[in-house]
Amino acid sequence: MPGEFDLIAKYFTRPAPDAVLGVGDDCALIAPTPGMELAISTDMLIAGRHFMPSDGPGTIGHKAMAVNLSDLAAMGARPRFALLSIALPEADEKFLQGFAGGFFGLAQKYGVNVIGGDTTRGGLLTLSVTVIGEVPPGRALRRDAARPGDDIWVSGTLGDAAAALAHHQGRLRLETAQAVQCFPRLFVPTPRIELGLALRGLAHAAIDVSDGFAADLGHILERSNVGAEVWFEQLPLSDALAPLVNEPAAQDCILAGGDDYELVFTASTDKRDQIATLATQLDLRLTRVGQITPLSPGERGGGEGLRLLNRGEPMTLARAGFDHFQS
Ligand code: ADP
Ligand code: MG
Repeated sequence: MPGEFDLIAKYFTRPAPDAVLGVGDDCALIAPTPGMELAISTDMLIAGRHFMPSDGPGTIGHKAMAVNLSDLAAMGARPRFALLSIALPEADEKFLQGFAGGFFGLAQKYGVNVIGGDTTRGGLLTLSVTVIGEVPPGRALRRDAARPGDDIWVSGTLGDAAAALAHHQGRLRLETAQAVQCFPRLFVPTPRIELGLALRGLAHAAIDVSDGFAADLGHILERSNVGAEVWFEQLPLSDALAPLVNEPAAQDCILAGGDDYELVFTASTDKRDQIATLATQLDLRLTRVGQITPLSPGERGGGEGLRLLNRGEPMTLARAGFDHFQS
């Protein structure tokens, strides 16, 4: 049975050329790029809650890195470093091999150096990843920066990951071809790093869709103290979900389903041409889905300030998104 230090050496120690000192000492040492602000975020994934223990180890590794990189993308930060803490029920080397492949594969793609972490035995497979990125001072895409009159934009398509989960749980019926399209969105999400970087100076506020479009847009509204009008029929859907758009279960995936890791951002209306050009450059759909509005007197931001219309008719939401303590 390999010990803790054998596991660290074998699976978690990789060259960290951008760090002063990587894995192996009490602390890692990094020298931030002079003049840059550090963007730091951490996200935890727990077996049975964020993934199934039966999911492929490589996809679990990919997702652990992807959800963290997505937070950097949503701030317009360039990913630099990551730390990985892992609690394992047992030293399962087959799992670790696959996990490390997915985790470091995505890290490498974005030039992220893994510089440390912690490895321990624990009852439930638990992963905690911390990422460190850089952003020029004052250029981060903050949730509190939306302004009345801004357009609201969404990248990619909404609801596919949630549709895959709903299909798996028997709440929504997908044809085989539709399922084949949706499952990768759930298991191997793509963090929108290039988009986040390109939106510096172009967008006002941004957030990544992890808990559901309505809930995550609601965070922008609350923090920015504004309202919004969103046009349901404009929301970008994949070929898989478009035919199901009138089904309540599909609408729930689109509006309140988590795990899309697309970016929702706001920008002033004079940026429309630049954003359209950006969509072409990145080969990524960027769709204008609504508008930021001022709050009426007495109205609060957040979910309350969100007016959802479907072809001009008000639409009500059964739920806005996922909440770990209310779901
Ligand atoms: P300490 O006892 O000082 O906390 P550890 O023995 O826990 O140090 O870890 C030894 C080294 O291995 C440290 O540099 C730590 O950051 C690194 N490390 C431990 N677990 C991981 C992991 N899962 N991924 C990356 N680095 C790790
Ligand atoms: Mg330790």
